[in-house]
Amino acid sequence: MANETRIRPDTESLILSGEPELEYQPVVDLTSGRLLGFEALLRWRHPDEGLILPGLLLPWLEANGDIVQLGEWVLMEGCQQATHWPQNIQLAVNLSLVQLRRGVGSRAVSEAIARSGIDPGRVTIEVTEHAMVEEVAMNDLRTIGALGVELAVDDVGTSWTSFDVLRRMAVNTVKIDRSFVGSLEPQQGINRLVVETVVSLAHSAGISTVAEGVETSQQAAIVREFDCDAAQGYFFAPPLSIELATELANEPGFCFSFEGAGWAEHQFVGSPSHEPIVHEPYHRPA
Ligand code: C2E
Ligand code: MG
Ligand code: MG
Repeated sequence: MANETRIRPDTESLILSGEPELEYQPVVDLTSGRLLGFEALLRWRHPDEGLILPGLLLPWLEANGDIVQLGEWVLMEGCQQATHWPQNIQLAVNLSLVQLRRGVGSRAVSEAIARSGIDPGRVTIEVTEHAMVEEVAMNDLRTIGALGVELAVDDVGTSWTSFDVLRRMAVNTVKIDRSFVGSLEPQQGINRLVVETVVSLAHSAGISTVAEGVETSQQAAIVREFDCDAAQGYFFAPPLSIELATELANEPGFCFSFEGAGWAEHQFVGSPSHEPIVHEPYHRPA
């Protein structure tokens, strides 16, 4: 984790010689195994280094403010993409605290919705618990909620925001941090307790729950047993390319299995002929 957040000295040159790209990780309904939607995850396509994960770049992008423009691109690209999926498939996009603190997150969300024409109810905006303690960020978040999108709080369990605040902020979903879910084996008493408590507090506040980082069938069984509503994780599927995600979204009746080897053994026959998608270029800040 410490490695992920340290800014590499060559980060700027990595960014200048690469281009942003999105991958999409499935979110799975834990009752039916149905695909509920995808979380858009930022990557950087670099000619020599391949696909770079956001942990390396975000601290730099946030420190110099470039995340504002990039965040607008992520929303636009993701919303445009989701219009090629069936109406019942949700798109989740992460918003940086920097966007909310500057009060510009709401403008980015409303422009992406207006330009793509997506139904705002199909968009979920993910923020971290830190957005729930700063007044300016909370105001921007309230404006975002008023646009008709869903709100999700990411990485829950890492800083214990009050569920009363989440309820008052009209949060729809909490995502339980993978540090708790990823070590959910039978002997991990504390982590089981955290997951069970978060699910029950969330449900009593009328908030739905997503378990992040489900990697094994055993973890999938435990989060189902604790009544968690949905899950994400390598067991179900890793973040997928645009092409694969669109194929999966358009696969009628596809359901994820809760047993066996998970994604590794899934096969689905997709139609390779979905319409070509026109992507907006990313305009780097001058
Ligand atoms: P997040 O929003 O909590 O996203 C989930 C992260 O967990 C992703 O990492 C995903 O690849 C990873 N993951 C999913 N399933 C598993 C699993 O089973 N095991 C493990 N070990 N990891 C799993 P990723 O893509 O590296 O993203 C890291 C973080 O970067 C995200 O965490 C989010 O906070 C941030 N991020 C990603 N895209 C964006 C973006 O477009 N804008 C902003 N502001 N932040 C973003
Ligand atoms: Mg997220
Ligand atoms: Mg998370």
